[in-house]
Amino acid sequence: MDKKEKQKLLNQLKEKMANDDSLPLRRGATNLVFGEGNPNAEILFIGEGPGFWEDKKGLPFVGNAGAFLNQLLYLIKLKRQEVFITNVVHYRPPENRDPTPDELRAFEPYLDSIIEIIDPKVIVTLGRYSMGKFLLGVTISSVHGKPRKVEWKGKEIVIVPMYHPAAGLRSLDIKKRLQEDFKIIPQVLENLDKAEKEKKDKVEQMNLI
Ligand code: URA
Repeated sequence: MDKKEKQKLLNQLKEKMANDDSLPLRRGATNLVFGEGNPNAEILFIGEGPGFWEDKKGLPFVGNAGAFLNQLLYLIKLKRQEVFITNVVHYRPPENRDPTPDELRAFEPYLDSIIEIIDPKVIVTLGRYSMGKFLLGVTISSVHGKPRKVEWKGKEIVIVPMYHPAAGLRSLDIKKRLQEDFKIIPQVLENLDKAEKEKKDKVEQMNLI
């Protein structure tokens, strides 16, 4: 699917979500925070849920945690426009409380559609709620910064679990860990490109036989 087609599908999905009266948290929120970025992104970042500024602006990670995420992206020379950023819930939970299991379930089909449309090579989970979508029975303190291949809807995706940027604003130790952990992202992409090239070369060699 090309970029234009992906953008069209994302726009349609956003509209469907905005018109879905069954979604929880909708009534207390100002705006739907669908997500933003490159529809063709190789990397998809999934956070937790909109906070005060995200709710006001309808955009993900535009408050303090977002400013820190921007710094982390800058550290690895990734532009925000190159990646796609979304959350596990797309309306702000009151007082920024944690999303409930029912809320996570309600938004999940939409998040799944976002993942399917973008079809990223790598998903960076920010915080334990998005990590919990892909990695079960693990704690973030033991797996942060460690990439893992998972099978998701018949497709292989590399998951890189990270602490939530907001946790890095509360703890200097976590801030440093995030800065270290983010450096793995370009390496993961490089390894995937290398593996893809080797696979292609092998197929070409086979075709010569
Ligand atoms: N925290 C999140 O998890 N997501 C946002 O969009 C903003 C802050």
